[in-house]
Amino acid sequence: MAQNDSQEFAELWEKNLISIQPPGGGSCWDIINDEEYLPGSFDPNFFENVLEEPPQPSTLPPTSTVPETSDYPGDHGFRLRFPQSGTAKSVTCTYSPDLNKLFCQLAKTCPVQMVVDVVPPQGSVVRATAIYKKSEHVAEVVRRCPHHERTPDGDNLAPAGHLIRVEGNQRANYREDNITLRHSVFVPYEAPQLGAEWTTVLLNYMCNSSCMGGMNRRPILTIVTLETQEGQLLGRRSFEVRVCACPGRDRKTEEGNFKKDQETKTMAKTTTGTKRSLVKEPSSATSRPEGSKKAKGSSSDEEIFTLQVRGRERYEILKKLNDSLELSEVVPASDAEKYRQKFMTKNKKENRESSEPKLGKKLMVKDEGRSDSD
Ligand SMILES: [Zn+2]
Repeated sequence: MAQNDSQEFAELWEKNLISIQPPGGGSCWDIINDEEYLPGSFDPNFFENVLEEPPQPSTLPPTSTVPETSDYPGDHGFRLRFPQSGTAKSVTCTYSPDLNKLFCQLAKTCPVQMVVDVVPPQGSVVRATAIYKKSEHVAEVVRRCPHHERTPDGDNLAPAGHLIRVEGNQRANYREDNITLRHSVFVPYEAPQLGAEWTTVLLNYMCNSSCMGGMNRRPILTIVTLETQEGQLLGRRSFEVRVCACPGRDRKTEEGNFKKDQETKTMAKTTTGTKRSLVKEPSSATSRPEGSKKAKGSSSDEEIFTLQVRGRERYEILKKLNDSLELSEVVPASDAEKYRQKFMTKNKKENRESSEPKLGKKLMVKDEGRSDSD
């Protein structure tokens, strides 16, 4: 009988269905060995076993179904750095600070440097998780394409379906979340070596962004989190990743597009003169206070203003206006007059030529219509 009682108690305790409330206050654990509150033959070692079990980050519940990507330096000032690699043709991994985007080749070494201001607690880990960047894909788990998953590539540590691997670290721990099924890899946080400001983790991306049946040209983000051993978040950073054949070239192209985009946006906001009352933020590099501008006279024409325009239609109109103004400054007045005359005569000619046949056609259509209805 007593044995059964204790087993039942143990089960209930394990399921957190009962707890011990000491009558005179104090900790629950103070009374565990007190015969009065335990069934006669209950094994106190049961509790010791429970207590001694170390926390396991790999079995903790996920933080959320859709992982957060926003930067969170936390109390430890957690942030990432990337070595400068430029955009040479031969480069296999290069990071663009403008785009916060890593460009790398499949399975090549991508050093990511972790910096903290305050050393995290003993046993902390650094975890890397990949998610799709666009909201329409974010629910889907990022995994390798079927082709690459089937191709043996010599890493016994990493499961074949995982996109992100940690290179050269036997303590790398791969995990598929029980509930979200998302893949992640984590390694123990290591303090920087003497004289260094950061610790480096080497990441590998095991598929191309273009892989059919895998990422399929969908952009991804890598989320890097600093966590305690118990899985509590200490800091978070994320960056975009493109795995491709020519990281240098693609970075150059995308940065070029990005800059053009920025310029177009500035253009959209830039007009001169009459719209000055709407000017929100004049470019700091070139702007001067109103007063000094007048004093400088003609140099005010070089001043760049930014205008916020609501709606594409208005933007196109204002852009056309601005383009014309820019163009009229470049074209000499005599040439402009010549263009104007040429344009006028051409218009007159076209009007004359097109008016007569058009009239004939209309009449013909009318006639046909009449005959049909008759
Ligand atoms: Zn693939």
